[in-house]
Amino acid sequence: MSAPNAQSSLPPEHYLGLFTIESWREFKAHGGRVMGFTEKKKLMAGRLKPGDKILCYVSKVSTFVGVMEVTGPAYWDTAKIWSDGIFPVRLPVKIVEELPLSHAIPIRTLAEKLSFMKPGTGWTIHVRSSPRRWTPADARTVVEAVAAKVRTIASGQTGQPHEAVEERHGALRKALPRSVRVGRVMEKTRGIMESGQTELLGSYENALSFNKVTGYSVNVPIGATCRPTAVCMKTCYFAVGAPSWSNSLRHQWKVMATMQANPAAFAERVAMEYDRLGLTFIRWNGGGDLFKENVEAINHLGKIRPDIPIWVVTRLPDWAAQIEQAPNVFIHFSLDKHSLGRRADFLKQKPRSQNHFFSYQCDRDEVPDAEGLEGIAVLFFDSYKPTGDVRKYRREVVCPLNGKDDITDVCRRCRRCFDGSAVSFS
Ligand code: SF4
Repeated sequence: MSAPNAQSSLPPEHYLGLFTIESWREFKAHGGRVMGFTEKKKLMAGRLKPGDKILCYVSKVSTFVGVMEVTGPAYWDTAKIWSDGIFPVRLPVKIVEELPLSHAIPIRTLAEKLSFMKPGTGWTIHVRSSPRRWTPADARTVVEAVAAKVRTIASGQTGQPHEAVEERHGALRKALPRSVRVGRVMEKTRGIMESGQTELLGSYENALSFNKVTGYSVNVPIGATCRPTAVCMKTCYFAVGAPSWSNSLRHQWKVMATMQANPAAFAERVAMEYDRLGLTFIRWNGGGDLFKENVEAINHLGKIRPDIPIWVVTRLPDWAAQIEQAPNVFIHFSLDKHSLGRRADFLKQKPRSQNHFFSYQCDRDEVPDAEGLEGIAVLFFDSYKPTGDVRKYRREVVCPLNGKDDITDVCRRCRRCFDGSAVSFS
């Protein structure tokens, strides 16, 4: 197997090389010089010769992260490199072009140029196994796209990076009555936490969750991160329905654990999902609230991807003040009649970002005093059901979700909270 390949005088060919996010990181951590395949791929891997190119494809997030060149013949080795298998058929390689994971190229953006990505065809077979030979034309499309993106990043046009368990606001520690919705979720959350089922997100799991209120969002367990007020406890939309189901709670725990394990890597993973899903904004804390690594992930993503509008919702003055100024990161500080003092607490901390605004969440049946809403940029009624005559409030302050029969996609169309409008009203 380690004998020189008899075909080495042949012109270079192109192959697909499959990675997961983790295996790419492990490959890089090991020096980025050894690609591995399963024993079943021994014959195929043996056909690759020095000079051949490998298109590095990250499965599940369906993106290209680089191009490598084979530097020698395949060989057998069982030294451990990857956490999910031995992959004893090894191939020496060198990275020719590489993109940060946060800027990897989604395959769907190349669909018009790749010959096999015709509508209605089963194109995924072309990216399901490796090493798989690709046609020169398709390979060229990827190689050129990666090279172009590398150049764009080098020119600074896409926002290349500028340069312990924390004490939680542990609502979990308080025993809240089961009669309030947040109390019921916390009890369930405590059960999951105590069962020891918390683990990191796997390669094939999404970090982002979807619901019709917030679109795609990063969600963490409210039971471990929020400091709920009396109004939240009764009205929190995240404590009822699908987000409160056991599977969702487990996913939220995994998101939090993954963020804590490596905030920057988590941010990069979110960036890839954003690209793959073709999103136009991300809601951060669709459920749950800030903590140390959560803030670090936001600050990292805000820098490496200034093109992504990040809408961060919080009720925690201390952590909100730690979010760094970035034109694409909008801090939405949520207040209600029991937490108005948190506004002063937040401002007292000298927030690092001026890109913030305040919203007001009404209690059940509350009719807020229009005069008392000074400095409030967005007004929400409980369950989006207006109480009384909404015409007495400034029109630009009443969230369009109020009174809507169907709230699907409203934020994506409105965008006030993450296009700077709300910041300018505060
Ligand atoms: S103001 Fe607009 S973006 Fe903000 S919550 Fe309401 S609908 Fe969504």
